[in-house]
Amino acid sequence: MSTCVFCEISAGRIPCTKLYENEHVLAFLDIGPISDGHTLVVPKAHYDRLHQCPPDVLAELGRVVGFLAEPVARAVQADGYNVLNNNGSAAGQVVEHVHVHIIPRKTGDGVFDRWPAYKYPPGKAEAIAEKIKKNLAR
Ligand code: 5GP
Ligand code: ZN
Repeated sequence: MSTCVFCEISAGRIPCTKLYENEHVLAFLDIGPISDGHTLVVPKAHYDRLHQCPPDVLAELGRVVGFLAEPVARAVQADGYNVLNNNGSAAGQVVEHVHVHIIPRKTGDGVFDRWPAYKYPPGKAEAIAEKIKKNLAR
Protein backbone atom coordinates (compact mmCIF):
# COMPACT_ATOMS: atom_id res chain seq x y z
CA MET A 1 0.00 0.00 0.00
CA SER A 2 1.43 3.40 -0.92
CA THR A 3 1.72 5.96 1.86
CA CYS A 4 0.02 9.33 1.78
CA VAL A 5 2.22 12.29 2.66
CA PHE A 6 -0.57 14.21 4.41
CA CYS A 7 -1.57 11.13 6.42
CA GLU A 8 2.08 10.85 7.47
CA ILE A 9 2.16 14.54 8.44
CA SER A 10 -1.15 14.22 10.32
CA ALA A 11 0.24 11.25 12.25
CA GLY A 12 3.42 13.21 13.10
CA ARG A 13 5.68 10.83 11.16
CA ILE A 14 6.73 13.54 8.68
CA PRO A 15 7.52 17.00 10.09
CA CYS A 16 5.68 20.12 9.07
CA THR A 17 5.61 23.79 10.02
CA LYS A 18 2.42 23.46 12.03
CA LEU A 19 0.07 26.42 12.44
CA TYR A 20 -3.00 24.90 14.08
CA GLU A 21 -4.55 21.56 14.91
CA ASN A 22 -7.60 20.16 16.59
CA GLU A 23 -9.14 16.68 16.74
CA HIS A 24 -10.15 16.62 13.07
CA VAL A 25 -8.07 19.20 11.19
CA LEU A 26 -4.43 20.21 10.80
CA ALA A 27 -2.97 23.35 9.19
CA PHE A 28 0.66 23.84 8.16
CA LEU A 29 2.79 25.84 5.73
CA ASP A 30 3.07 24.49 2.19
CA ILE A 31 6.60 23.21 1.51
CA GLY A 32 6.48 24.68 -2.02
CA PRO A 33 4.75 28.02 -1.52
CA ILE A 34 3.51 30.22 -4.37
CA SER A 35 3.44 33.14 -1.92
CA ASP A 36 4.79 33.74 1.58
CA GLY A 37 2.44 32.22 4.15
CA HIS A 38 0.89 29.73 1.66
CA THR A 39 -1.00 27.43 4.02
CA LEU A 40 -2.60 24.00 3.69
CA VAL A 41 -5.58 22.91 5.78
CA VAL A 42 -6.26 19.16 5.79
CA PRO A 43 -8.61 16.74 7.51
CA LYS A 44 -6.54 14.36 9.66
CA ALA A 45 -8.46 11.41 8.23
CA HIS A 46 -7.81 10.45 4.63
CA TYR A 47 -10.29 11.32 1.88
CA ASP A 48 -9.14 11.63 -1.73
CA ARG A 49 -11.51 14.39 -2.80
CA LEU A 50 -13.74 17.03 -1.27
CA HIS A 51 -17.05 15.34 -2.09
CA GLN A 52 -15.91 12.20 -0.26
CA CYS A 53 -15.53 14.06 3.07
CA PRO A 54 -18.43 13.49 5.47
CA PRO A 55 -20.43 16.68 6.15
CA ASP A 56 -19.11 17.12 9.71
CA VAL A 57 -15.49 16.91 8.49
CA LEU A 58 -16.24 19.35 5.67
CA ALA A 59 -17.87 21.74 8.11
CA GLU A 60 -14.84 21.64 10.40
CA LEU A 61 -12.47 22.07 7.45
CA GLY A 62 -14.42 25.14 6.35
CA ARG A 63 -14.53 26.54 9.86
CA VAL A 64 -10.74 26.25 10.23
CA VAL A 65 -10.11 27.80 6.79
CA GLY A 66 -12.25 30.76 7.82
CA PHE A 67 -10.53 30.95 11.20
CA LEU A 68 -7.02 30.98 9.69
CA ALA A 69 -7.42 33.04 6.53
CA GLU A 70 -7.16 36.50 8.07
CA PRO A 71 -4.31 35.72 10.55
CA VAL A 72 -2.33 34.07 7.74
CA ALA A 73 -2.85 37.01 5.38
CA ARG A 74 -2.10 39.61 8.06
CA ALA A 75 1.15 37.85 9.06
CA VAL A 76 2.59 38.54 5.61
CA GLN A 77 0.93 41.94 5.09
CA ALA A 78 -1.17 40.51 2.25
CA ASP A 79 -3.78 42.63 0.49
CA GLY A 80 -6.01 39.60 -0.04
CA TYR A 81 -6.00 35.81 -0.28
CA ASN A 82 -7.26 32.95 -2.44
CA VAL A 83 -8.82 29.78 -1.06
CA LEU A 84 -8.25 26.87 -3.43
CA ASN A 85 -9.04 23.16 -3.38
CA ASN A 86 -7.88 21.00 -6.29
CA ASN A 87 -9.75 17.76 -6.98
CA GLY A 88 -8.35 15.29 -9.50
CA SER A 89 -5.19 15.56 -11.57
CA ALA A 90 -7.09 17.46 -14.31
CA ALA A 91 -7.70 20.16 -11.70
CA GLY A 92 -4.07 20.18 -10.54
CA GLN A 93 -4.40 17.87 -7.53
CA VAL A 94 -1.03 16.27 -6.87
CA VAL A 95 -1.49 15.05 -3.28
CA GLU A 96 -4.58 12.84 -3.21
CA HIS A 97 -5.57 13.72 0.35
CA VAL A 98 -8.10 16.53 0.58
CA HIS A 99 -6.48 19.87 1.32
CA VAL A 100 -7.42 23.51 1.08
CA HIS A 101 -4.83 26.09 0.08
CA ILE A 102 -4.87 29.56 1.65
CA ILE A 103 -2.75 31.71 -0.65
CA PRO A 104 -1.92 35.23 0.55
CA ARG A 105 -1.95 37.78 -2.27
CA LYS A 106 -0.36 41.16 -2.86
CA THR A 107 -1.73 43.66 -5.34
CA GLY A 108 -0.06 43.07 -8.72
CA ASP A 109 1.81 39.91 -7.61
CA GLY A 110 0.96 38.14 -10.90
CA VAL A 111 -0.16 34.87 -9.22
CA PHE A 112 -3.13 33.40 -11.18
CA ASP A 113 -2.76 36.01 -13.93
CA ARG A 114 -4.61 33.82 -16.43
CA TRP A 115 -8.38 33.42 -15.82
CA PRO A 116 -9.71 32.08 -19.12
CA ALA A 117 -13.30 33.34 -18.92
CA TYR A 118 -15.67 33.03 -21.88
CA LYS A 119 -19.40 33.38 -22.61
CA TYR A 120 -21.95 30.55 -23.02
CA PRO A 121 -23.75 30.37 -26.35
CA PRO A 122 -27.57 30.77 -26.01
CA GLY A 123 -29.23 27.87 -24.15
CA LYS A 124 -26.06 26.17 -22.95
CA ALA A 125 -26.06 27.55 -19.38
CA GLU A 126 -29.68 26.43 -18.91
CA ALA A 127 -28.94 22.93 -20.30
CA ILE A 128 -25.96 22.49 -17.98
CA ALA A 129 -27.94 23.78 -14.99
CA GLU A 130 -30.70 21.22 -15.73
CA LYS A 131 -28.16 18.37 -15.76
CA ILE A 132 -26.62 19.54 -12.48
CA LYS A 133 -30.02 19.77 -10.81
CA LYS A 134 -30.90 16.23 -11.99
CA ASN A 135 -27.64 14.99 -10.44
CA LEU A 136 -28.62 16.59 -7.11
CA ALA A 137 -31.71 14.40 -7.00
CA ARG A 138 -29.67 11.18 -7.26
P1 5GP B 1 -2.15 20.12 -4.94
O1 5GP B 1 -1.53 20.46 -6.26
O2 5GP B 1 -2.31 18.64 -4.72
O3 5GP B 1 -3.43 20.87 -4.69
O4 5GP B 1 -1.16 20.69 -3.85
C1 5GP B 1 -0.33 19.91 -3.06
C2 5GP B 1 0.54 20.85 -2.26
O5 5GP B 1 1.17 20.11 -1.24
C3 5GP B 1 1.65 21.51 -3.08
O6 5GP B 1 1.49 22.92 -3.02
C4 5GP B 1 2.94 21.03 -2.41
O7 5GP B 1 3.93 22.03 -2.34
C5 5GP B 1 2.45 20.61 -1.04
N1 5GP B 1 3.24 19.53 -0.44
C6 5GP B 1 3.57 18.35 -1.03
N2 5GP B 1 4.29 17.59 -0.19
C7 5GP B 1 4.41 18.31 0.97
C8 5GP B 1 5.06 18.04 2.21
O8 5GP B 1 5.67 17.00 2.44
N3 5GP B 1 4.97 19.00 3.17
C9 5GP B 1 4.28 20.18 2.95
N4 5GP B 1 4.27 21.06 3.96
N5 5GP B 1 3.66 20.46 1.78
C10 5GP B 1 3.72 19.53 0.80
ZN1 ZN C 1 -3.92 10.74 3.37
